[in-house]
Amino acid sequence: MSATRKNMHLSSNVDATHSLDGINIRRREFIGATLKGAAASALLTGGAVGLTGCGSSEAHATPSLPSQGEFIFRGGYVLSMDPGVGDLANGDVHIKNGAIINIAPSISASSAEVIDANDCIVMPGFVDGHWHMMNALWRGLVNDKAGFTYFEVFGRLGPAYTPSDSYTGVKLALTEAINAGITTVHNWSNNNRSPAHADAELAAHTELGVRTRWSYGAPFGLSEIPWSDVPRVRQRWFAAGDRMMTLGIGATQVGLGSQTIQQTADQLSKARALGLPVSLHSLATQPDSPDSIRFLIDNNLLGSDLQLLHGISSEPYLAAIAAAGTSLAISPAVEPLTTILVPPVPAAMTAGLKLSIAVDTSALASADMFMNMRLVWASAHVRSDGSNLPSARQLLQIATIGGATAHGLQDVTGSLRPGKRADLIMVRKSDINMQLAQDIDPAWLLVSSGRPENVDTVMVDGRVLKRRGALTTVKVPEVMKAAKDALEGLRTRAGMPVLGKPAI
Ligand SMILES: [Zn+2]
Repeated sequence: MSATRKNMHLSSNVDATHSLDGINIRRREFIGATLKGAAASALLTGGAVGLTGCGSSEAHATPSLPSQGEFIFRGGYVLSMDPGVGDLANGDVHIKNGAIINIAPSISASSAEVIDANDCIVMPGFVDGHWHMMNALWRGLVNDKAGFTYFEVFGRLGPAYTPSDSYTGVKLALTEAINAGITTVHNWSNNNRSPAHADAELAAHTELGVRTRWSYGAPFGLSEIPWSDVPRVRQRWFAAGDRMMTLGIGATQVGLGSQTIQQTADQLSKARALGLPVSLHSLATQPDSPDSIRFLIDNNLLGSDLQLLHGISSEPYLAAIAAAGTSLAISPAVEPLTTILVPPVPAAMTAGLKLSIAVDTSALASADMFMNMRLVWASAHVRSDGSNLPSARQLLQIATIGGATAHGLQDVTGSLRPGKRADLIMVRKSDINMQLAQDIDPAWLLVSSGRPENVDTVMVDGRVLKRRGALTTVKVPEVMKAAKDALEGLRTRAGMPVLGKPAI
C-alpha cells in the first residue's frame, strides 16, 4: 500500500498525533538462541512477547510443522512454469526431504507417500510481491467513509498495536496465504513499534512454515527504520541461511511525512552496506514520485537488489528500471482503490521488467492470487493498445517465478524442477467453477476461473500445510477468535467504535 496523493494528508496527520511513547508495551526478550516452529509459539503462549494491555488472552495454538518426508504427486497435469520441464499432461512429481527430486510421466518410489493428483493441476505455489500482514485484522473495517479509509484506520490502530496484536495479525494473514496457495510471502513490516513487535511477527512466520521475505520498515507514522535492531533480528531469525526466511529492508516512501529522496537514498545505502535487499513504495501518483525515480536513475541507485512497489507513474522510466534489473510489484486489487490509475503492465512487459503481484493488504482485498491475475489481465486491457496483452502463461509467470525472482529466490522456488525446494500446490479441476472439457489450456482455466477454494493441497519446503482442502497445522477457529479479540482490543484502546456497535 502506497501513501498516495489521495490520502497523503492523512499520514502526515498521523506523524503529528502519535508517538511511540504513548504505547503500553512491555519489552521482554525471548529466551534461548533459536526459535523455530512450535518452540516459538510455546514461548508466545507463555507470554514471552509482552502482552500488557492485549485484547486477547487466548492461548496460541502450538502446532508442530509436518515432517518433510517423501511424496509423489501422482497422475496430475503438471504445470511446471519451468522452460526445461514444461507441461506434463499426466505426470508425477517426486519430493524428498523438502526438495523436488524428479518430474516425469511415471515415477516409481515405493517408500513415498502417494498424493493422488488425478483431475488436478500440480503447479508452483504463488509468490507474493509485498504484503502488510499485521493489518489483516482490519478486514471489513476499511472502506471509503470518512474516518475509515485505509490510512486513517492505520493512523488510529497502528500505534495501539501490542506485540501480541502483531503476532495475531500476521498469523491470520499467513493462514489466509496457506489456504489460498501462496507459498512465499513478502511481509512488508511497517508497524514494528518495538523489537518485541518484530519478534512477534517473526515467531508467527516460523510457526506457520510459509517461505518468507521479511522487510524491516519504519513504524507507521514514522520515517526512520529501527536500524539498531536490524543486526539483532538478523542474528535471531535469519542466521539459519536456509532460504525459508530471508531479511530485507523496507525503505521509507518519498513524500511520506517529510521524507526526502536523499533520506531514502541514504536508507538504500545503509541497507546495501549490510548486504540486504531493499523494497520501496514508489512511483505512485504523488507529484514528487517521478522526480524521485529520476533521482534514483541519475545517481545509479537502481539495482537488482531493489524492488519498487506500485509503479503507477513508471512508464517514462520502464527501460531504465528494466536495464538495472530492478523489479516492480504491482497490487492490482488495491491500486485502483487508492490511486486513480492502474499500472502500465503491457508496457512494463514489453520493456522486460521483472514483475510480481502483491497482495499488499488483506484489509482491502482478500489474499487471492487467482483474482489478482484476473485483475492484472483486466488492467492490462485498460493500458493496452491491443497488441501487447499478457497471455495466461505470462500472468501465471508473474504470480509465481516472477515473485521468486523479485526476491532473489528464483533458484529456490516459483517453478517446478528437480533441485528446487518443494513449494507447490494442487488445484482441483473437478470443482463447480472449473473445467468440463479436457482440452482446455489449464493456464487460462486458472487465470479466468480459479479461486482459493479450488486449492486442494499446499506444500512448502516439502511440508504439507493444506490437504484435501483443510489446513493441516493451523486451527482456523482459534486463529479467527484470536484475531477478533485482538481487533476488539485495538479498537477499544484506540477509541474506535467497539465490535457489536455499528461503526458506520
Ligand atoms: Zn505497501
